[in-house]
Amino acid sequence: MGMTGMEVYKVLPKTNCKECGFPTCLAFAMQVAAKQRALTDCPRLSDDAREALSDASAPPMKLVRIGPAGEGQFEFGQETVMFRHEEKFHHPPAIAVRIPAAATDAEAAEKMDRINQAVFTRVGEQIAVALAVVEIEGLSPEAAADRATALADGGRAGIVLMGSDPAVQAAAARALADRKPLLYGATEATAEAMIALASETKCPLAVSASSLERLADLTQQAKQGGVEELVLAFDGHRTARVIREITTARRAALKKNFRALGYPALVDVTGDDVGREAVLAATFVAKYAGIVVINGIDGAELIPILTAIQNIYTDPQVPNTVEAKLYEVGDVDEQAPVLFTTNFALTYFSVEGEVERSKVPCYIGVVDTEGLGVLNAYAGDKISAEKVVRTLDALGVAEKVKHRKLIIPGLLPSFRAEIEDTSVWKEVLIGPESATGIPRFLAETWSA
Ligand code: SF4
Repeated sequence: MGMTGMEVYKVLPKTNCKECGFPTCLAFAMQVAAKQRALTDCPRLSDDAREALSDASAPPMKLVRIGPAGEGQFEFGQETVMFRHEEKFHHPPAIAVRIPAAATDAEAAEKMDRINQAVFTRVGEQIAVALAVVEIEGLSPEAAADRATALADGGRAGIVLMGSDPAVQAAAARALADRKPLLYGATEATAEAMIALASETKCPLAVSASSLERLADLTQQAKQGGVEELVLAFDGHRTARVIREITTARRAALKKNFRALGYPALVDVTGDDVGREAVLAATFVAKYAGIVVINGIDGAELIPILTAIQNIYTDPQVPNTVEAKLYEVGDVDEQAPVLFTTNFALTYFSVEGEVERSKVPCYIGVVDTEGLGVLNAYAGDKISAEKVVRTLDALGVAEKVKHRKLIIPGLLPSFRAEIEDTSVWKEVLIGPESATGIPRFLAETWSA
């Protein structure tokens, strides 16, 4: 049974010092009650309250952090629901690209560069490969430390050290401890040494076992050994079994408060077949990995997986919108075409992207449709000719251009007559139904 916000608030120091990152103790208490923060995140909590209540108020799934504190640290776990529509998913999973131990130093450095540069922009947000998996299996301890240090030096991506030999892991982890890498991974055979290493270096530890029951035993053993940040590791090639096990672990943690399985999951789907790897990665993004390990580094594989993450980890209760205002695309002047669209982010960025592709500088007036695309907004009565005219007036668009032509979406042809009759826009051009038609439309139809 969780604590209510007021029960949490009662044990807090009530100084509103903001050191927890929240403006007041009450705001922090509400986050603890919602399982979004641990009570122990308040640095001013008394020892008595810490001891008495930290377990009762802890989120059912642990938050795990890779990388040094600050910008660029990757956080995952601390999910609260089984299904996105129940609330939302909180921490998007990382794509982690593996650098094989067999690669030469030059090959490894080249792949690391590509990982660090794997950042893309989609609907106004950056999506990126978050982690590099530095495989140290079969290397000597010295070679492992050298490789880990060389690859981690100055890079953007967080580091996962992958190797089964505790002595080799120890050399690399100690060399890299200030980068707080994930140690991947401990097995039933190596658990004792790996737990001691994770405890010593304060690094998170990924553990795997032959069954969920053994995995729960291992996490308990690690916790007793002083390791709090744990990750459940799975071989994703046993796809059906792993989906079943991950789902069971998540349900046990979230629904039954079974803390021994209350940790995020890492799923390794590395293989030689790029297509299969992408499909498996997207599968485990949906169910329920916190890290997915792959081999591929080409955009053709990465972008679909990162897009799946971006789509699933949006808040379903908050429409994905852009600000309703006048946007200038390119070097506009008083002869530039004027278009309008809705404030649904995907619609806006599709239009903006196609205008850029056309190389014709344009004004785009954005109408507030509460985050709906053109047809949905029309069907839901969120856009009308009168609202378009009112918006363009409020944005002062007519003062920006000398012509009086307005390009409207091809899906709203019925708006033409009313806009021409009731506004300064005396020549309304019906544009293409799809944004992809904009470059051709502008090339063939537009003249101020
Ligand atoms: Fe209150 Fe603790 Fe947050 Fe300070 S750090 S505002 S005392 S909850």
